[in-house]
Amino acid sequence: MQKRDYYEVLGVERSASEGDIKKAYRKLALELHPDRNPDDPEAEERFKEASEAFQVLSDQQKRATYDRFGHEGLSGAGAGPGFTDVQDIFSQFGDIFSDFFGGAGGFGRRRRGGPQRGADLRAAVRLTLEEAAFGTKKEVPLAYPGPCEDCDGSGAEGGNRKTCPQCQGAGQVAHQRGPFLLQTPCPACNGQGSTVETPCKACRGRGEVEVERTVKVTFPEGIDEGQTLRVPGQGLGGTKGGPSGHLYVEVELERDPRFERDGIDLIHVLPISVPDASLGTSLEIENLEGDPIKVKIPSGSQPRDTVVIRGQGVPRLSRGGRGDLIVLLDVQIPKKLSRKAKKLMNELKNELS
Ligand SMILES: [Zn+2]
Ligand SMILES: [Zn+2]
Repeated sequence: MQKRDYYEVLGVERSASEGDIKKAYRKLALELHPDRNPDDPEAEERFKEASEAFQVLSDQQKRATYDRFGHEGLSGAGAGPGFTDVQDIFSQFGDIFSDFFGGAGGFGRRRRGGPQRGADLRAAVRLTLEEAAFGTKKEVPLAYPGPCEDCDGSGAEGGNRKTCPQCQGAGQVAHQRGPFLLQTPCPACNGQGSTVETPCKACRGRGEVEVERTVKVTFPEGIDEGQTLRVPGQGLGGTKGGPSGHLYVEVELERDPRFERDGIDLIHVLPISVPDASLGTSLEIENLEGDPIKVKIPSGSQPRDTVVIRGQGVPRLSRGGRGDLIVLLDVQIPKKLSRKAKKLMNELKNELS
């Protein structure tokens, strides 16, 4: 793909000041931020593109190189610009984001010592063909290790860890080796500075328990196998007031005995007899909702011919409209013939030859 001009990407003049460039990027980043455009790959691409442009144009030296040599000037020397992961953008330009999103909004990611966003969780959910086609709500069970509430994650009954008597809480002990004073982690508390006198019963002193909860997830109509939904804020809790992570739910489809899904179309294999294929007929099948629909089989139909029934497929994800139901004709050649059928078949053979 042809790379767009960085000035064009940010919508600024080539003579733009540092301040103008920063302002333009902030405006774009605010608009394209992934948290405001969930499940929008185009917005994410543009967010990365704008961040790359800003990465270059906000750096005097890189900007000068780009002005003189264009994209080629930057791609050499093993350090071409660009981002593959939005997390890299947050870690590099975190300060800019925290400026305008504020602490509570939650974009001060990866700032040491400050609030940390919680980790993301992943889950897979199996849907029937109808559930995926028409949308559904489901309680998705989650299980993951989390801090024990009984002891506040300390592992000690009542949350009271005792200051380690051996190191007095320092976590380190000193040994005299000749003229040297060596510091090593305290063996009594494993360097933690505190010990557990009575282990917490709920977590057996581990400080961690298996957390189980369910999250109600809405699957939009038209969702398909392999697609992932993002449920904001349903991941692990952040620390020091940081925001929660997200939950990513991947969709798997159950096999359906009646229909095979092909994007927004459904394929139904319909067995028909040789006379029906030859003479033509009208048969009834059920659509995805279970309602009867007529299939007109034209005379002279061949094995693997298809009859397309418009608008009886799967609803299109977030764009309206429905795909088609494709009826694949499976002409059944009789394996066993009665005496009479054999006679008729022979007559037919003579007639056709
Ligand atoms: Zn100790
Ligand atoms: Zn506990």
